Amino acid sequence: MSEFDPQRGFGVYVHWPYCARICPYCDFNVYAAKARDTAPLFDAILRDLEGWRARTGEREVTSIFLGGGTPSLMTGEQVSQLIAHIGSLWRVAPEAEITLEANPDDHARFGAFAEAGVNRLSLGVQSLDDERLKFLGRTHSAGQALEALEAARGKFRSVSIDMIYAVPGQSLEDWRGELSRALALGADHLSLYELSIEPGAAFFQAVKRKSWSPASDDEAAELFDVTQAMTEAAGLPAYEISNHARGAEHRSVHNGIYWKCGDWVGVGPGAHGRLTIGAKRWAVEAAEKPGAYLHHLKSNGIGWGVVDELDAVGQARERVAMGLRVVEGFAVSDVEALRLKLNAENVTMLVALGFLVVRDGRVVLTPEGRLRADRIAAEIAP
Ligand code: SF4
Repeated sequence: MSEFDPQRGFGVYVHWPYCARICPYCDFNVYAAKARDTAPLFDAILRDLEGWRARTGEREVTSIFLGGGTPSLMTGEQVSQLIAHIGSLWRVAPEAEITLEANPDDHARFGAFAEAGVNRLSLGVQSLDDERLKFLGRTHSAGQALEALEAARGKFRSVSIDMIYAVPGQSLEDWRGELSRALALGADHLSLYELSIEPGAAFFQAVKRKSWSPASDDEAAELFDVTQAMTEAAGLPAYEISNHARGAEHRSVHNGIYWKCGDWVGVGPGAHGRLTIGAKRWAVEAAEKPGAYLHHLKSNGIGWGVVDELDAVGQARERVAMGLRVVEGFAVSDVEALRLKLNAENVTMLVALGFLVVRDGRVVLTPEGRLRADRIAAEIAP
């Protein structure tokens, strides 16, 4: 078992579960914002943070991530209060990354978010084509996304944009055009996701009814290859399966904590966390529904719903699965220290097939292996 290692980072994730409208592809823990009073949930999140501070003790926070849902629906005042509260509970590193996920519709508040301390904006652009935005159920147009990007310019240390590809009817040429326009926007970071059809999302029913068909595996693989080539040529190579940065300084520190299997507190309905306390590591999940979350806070002073202890092999498997996602891969010694022996036969076979490389004691996916990351993790760390 290993103790908390500050080198892997310590983050705070806040889940704000409300959205102006629920997108048909989304299976996150989200709820329509409507005209509801968000003050009770906001207060509960502050109390939950206090509950976690009592359990972690003093630590240095290397990243704060306000995600969701749509945290840009929060007011500048709420974001400011939240960041200040985290800073009153733990020591926040002076260079800590403070990210807020935003929808383009909320660009009038970007100045207030920057003043509150947010230094990284992750903007949900999703597409630069109005028809595709409509199909994806988004509330903004391509023009509004560009306006939002303009509003973000100069206000944050780093700006990231999210885009979705493999949308039905989108040809390889369409995506090439859209991606080259996205690359020309000058963002520091791109998160590029294939449209996936998740059981909890409205699109799942549409596909079941055969209203339309998702891209085939071959089409998706071709789109993925084009994405890798174009981003690399534009100076934003992949540093993780779906993430691309203009230089190491623009890589996501927060997601880096997940990929390095560091520690993070997760607050807000359904938020996940991982905490190493003493020699034990816990996988924690807050109560999912906002009402249940408020109830937990009221009765226990903390929002968790599920707490599982991860044994050494469970921790090692996470290190394999997470480490394979990034271009540095994972260190064999790191998982062996947790008493996991990799399946040598499968490693040799995957190397021979061109999906894996083993060098300097690290196991790394090749570009061909990246699309099969989850399956490969299960094969080498059964
Ligand atoms: S995709 Fe984003 S904006 Fe749309 S419902 Fe999901 S969390 Fe909300």
